Amino acid sequence: MLSHDIHVHTIISECCHEPDATPENYIRLAKDLGLKVIGFSDHLWDSAVDGASKWYSTQNFDHIMQIKDMIPVDTQGIKVLIGCETEYCGNGKIGISPKVAKQLDFVLVPISHVHMKGFVLPSWMNTPEDIANTMVKYFKDVTNFDFITGIAHPFYPLGHENIDGIISCIPDDVFMECFSMAAEKGISIEINACHFPSIKGVETETYNDETFLNMFLIAKAAGCKFHLGSDAHSIDVLPRIIKLQKIVEDLGFTDEDIHPIVTDNAIKNS
Ligand SMILES: [Zn+2]
Ligand SMILES: [Zn+2]
Repeated sequence: MLSHDIHVHTIISECCHEPDATPENYIRLAKDLGLKVIGFSDHLWDSAVDGASKWYSTQNFDHIMQIKDMIPVDTQGIKVLIGCETEYCGNGKIGISPKVAKQLDFVLVPISHVHMKGFVLPSWMNTPEDIANTMVKYFKDVTNFDFITGIAHPFYPLGHENIDGIISCIPDDVFMECFSMAAEKGISIEINACHFPSIKGVETETYNDETFLNMFLIAKAAGCKFHLGSDAHSIDVLPRIIKLQKIVEDLGFTDEDIHPIVTDNAIKNS
């Protein structure tokens, strides 16, 4: 499979505290790892859109565009894409305008930053059923936007214990309905390192590598295209993309399943 990672955070993201996490260092390591495409996806809330949380308010388009001056001229044969990870808060509230979306190579939208209580998720909401239903609703909502490229870490409920419990609240036919909507709109489904706990090398009782397997196979059957993301917030984490690629290839995914945001750019590059 064409090696790529289009979910990478740099020091531009407020949650990235590693001074080493510069585009230059990532690109050097990406070269060593054999990646053909790397996409930077720093957190973004567009100033043109009202309602940013305090945390998002400084992370506007001008802020993330600082990356342009940080990318070396020689990218060592790797195609570098500049994108973002924005936010979806329900009721049609998305943290990016079509105008800004057009200026980026790609736009990732999460539907599951449910740890942002009182912003993404109402603060009273906490049961596995509520969280599962909210993610399903948000997933369907974001397929209505025609300026988004992909959904970041779909259905991975950030900051929640009992991930198995939450995912088991979503029946296969509901997954199929969601992924069919994404497939119809050409929205890429992200396979993120967080979906497979073995990649981190830590044992967890809240979910295992099987938890999301069925979901991705349903997405493939629905006709979705995919991209991979390490969600690295430090350069040490980037190598997880290679373990993720191995898992995905073992599942039977090939270049045919990869979204054009990756494959088209790689072809232009070669
Ligand atoms: Zn995220
Ligand atoms: Zn991220």
